[in-house]
Amino acid sequence: MPINLETPKKFAGLVSQAHIVATEVFRPNSRKYDDAEHSYPKELDMLAAAIDGMNESGALGGAGAGGVGGNGNGDGNGNGASAKKADPNANRNGSNMASLLGLTELCWGDVGLLLTMPRQGLGQAAIAAVADDEQLKRFGRKWAAMAITEPEAGSDSAAIRTTARLDGDEYVLNGEKIFVTSGDRAELIVVWATLDRDQGRAAIKSFVVERSNPGMKLDRLEHKLGIRASDTAAFILEDCRVPKENLLGTPEIDTKQGFAGAMATFDNTRPLVAAMAIGCARASLELTKELLENAGVEIDYDRPAQTQSAAAATFLQLEADWEAAYLLTLQSAWMADNREPNSLEASMAKAKAGRVGSDVTLSCVELCGAVGYSETELLEKWARDSKILDIFEGTQQIQQLIVARRVLGLTSAQLK
Ligand SMILES: Cc1cc2nc3c(=O)[nH]c(=O)nc-3n(C[C@H](O)[C@H](O)[C@H](O)COP(=O)(O)OP(=O)(O)OC[C@H]3O[C@@H](n4cnc5c(N)ncnc54)[C@H](O)[C@@H]3O)c2cc1C
Repeated sequence: MPINLETPKKFAGLVSQAHIVATEVFRPNSRKYDDAEHSYPKELDMLAAAIDGMNESGALGGAGAGGVGGNGNGDGNGNGASAKKADPNANRNGSNMASLLGLTELCWGDVGLLLTMPRQGLGQAAIAAVADDEQLKRFGRKWAAMAITEPEAGSDSAAIRTTARLDGDEYVLNGEKIFVTSGDRAELIVVWATLDRDQGRAAIKSFVVERSNPGMKLDRLEHKLGIRASDTAAFILEDCRVPKENLLGTPEIDTKQGFAGAMATFDNTRPLVAAMAIGCARASLELTKELLENAGVEIDYDRPAQTQSAAAATFLQLEADWEAAYLLTLQSAWMADNREPNSLEASMAKAKAGRVGSDVTLSCVELCGAVGYSETELLEKWARDSKILDIFEGTQQIQQLIVARRVLGLTSAQLK
């Protein structure tokens, strides 16, 4: 089935709305919340209400403007499966593509503000992927963060030590979670914990914990290089009791299924993190082009790069790299919408876009010299903001590892 690279017409409204939000709300507040780290961007509350309204009316294609939620199997209007049934060869652009396009625009505005949009959050991706109907009703519309990382478990998430012990009708969680995006602002935290450390990856389950739970104690908020508008929290879980109905998925420990189920969530979210890098890098490229042209640098798309000035040639190379990353990202989300296994492509897109995002944003600072480095423009901020997109949801090195395993047909035990 051929991929069509035009932006689907049905998403034109979503893209233009996201662009307006990025221009009118994010950009004017970018510097303010970069400086005022840990203060809540109250301007987003009004926006959240508007987004809820648009979601309800279907104006956003069901994806949510900043949505990293959704299991990616529908067309955003809840009828993906039937569309496919009617014509199994139909080309489908669903909630993954809608989210990709929306996030790209919003991150063209500001990555940190996008990450702290009320009622969005990575936790919703996990809830949407594995919650049953009753859980969806209780948790589906809430702002949910995701707590996987621990002091001794980052890239190797199978090494987590937080435990969950069944006691009557409740699970009792004990452990420590660090680097939880939106951890202080979300209503729910999806916490990964193990039911039995001796049984390895298969015993790791996710539990929905209310942020107000007294057993979940905020230890600190991190100070960071970039995305300073987004809060990043560390928690201590001390005899944190949650109803047993808050376990997502099955409580059975199925050693055959192992970790694959939990990790599959990320096949849908990695393209979206790649999209964030694409949006931020596009902002840098657009502003740099304008600044270079104002400084008299001519960029000619009809002449070979090596015959142009060094600045123009560098710029053309950055744009080409950006485009390659963009196309890979489109492909990985499109595959998810069309129910094609995309684990390889999702990691390729995340690795490529993460690296290109860092390269492009920092090279734009370099190309613009003192103007790029100073706080009069946002170029230096975008270089700081972009770096995280090459770290969280699987670092550059981990994505390359996943790609290598897939290409070589090796298991995680065979290639570490
Ligand atoms: C701002 C921010 C927000 C975050 N938000 C969240 C969140 O919401 N929820 C959450 O659970 N986590 C979150 N994280 C954590 C993030 O996912 C981890 O930082 C990331 O997975 C890397 O883990 P680590 O920092 O422990 O580094 P490590 O795993 O210790 O890695 C250190 C370095 O070694 C490399 N490396 C590790 N293993 C290998 C290997 N096998 N082969 C080659 N190289 C390797 C890594 O690529 C990296 O360069 C966040 C982090 C930050 C900084």
